[in-house]
Amino acid sequence: MSNVSRRTFLSLAALVAAPSALLVSRSAAAADLPHLDPADPTAKSLGYVPDATKIDVKAAPTFKAGSHCASCQLFGGKAGDAFGPCGIFTGKAVSSNGWCSAYAKKAA
Ligand code: SF4
Repeated sequence: MSNVSRRTFLSLAALVAAPSALLVSRSAAAADLPHLDPADPTAKSLGYVPDATKIDVKAAPTFKAGSHCASCQLFGGKAGDAFGPCGIFTGKAVSSNGWCSAYAKKAA
C-alpha cells in the first residue's frame, strides 16, 4: 500500500468510525443520567410525576389523558426507552411514563 492510499484509507476509516462512536457516547451518556426526582424544585414547580397514570388531575388541570413523556416533543429518549433526557430538565433523565405541565405533544 502506497503512502497516499494508506493515508486515504485511514482518513476514510476515521470518517466511518466517528459517527458510530458519537452515537455510542450519546446513548451511554443518556443511560448514565440520574433520574429526575419529583421533589426537585423545578420538577415540583412543573408538577412532574414519574407515572402519568397516577396523576392527581385536580393538581394538574392541563393534563390530558394519555399524554406522557414518551409522546412529548421535549423527550430525548428513543422509542421503548424507560428513561430519557428532557429539554427542560437538563442533566436528568425523565421517565417515559412521566408527565409535567410543560408537556407538548410530538407532531404526528
Ligand atoms: Fe416529560 Fe415533556 Fe415534561 Fe420533559 S417536558 S418532563 S418530556 S412531559
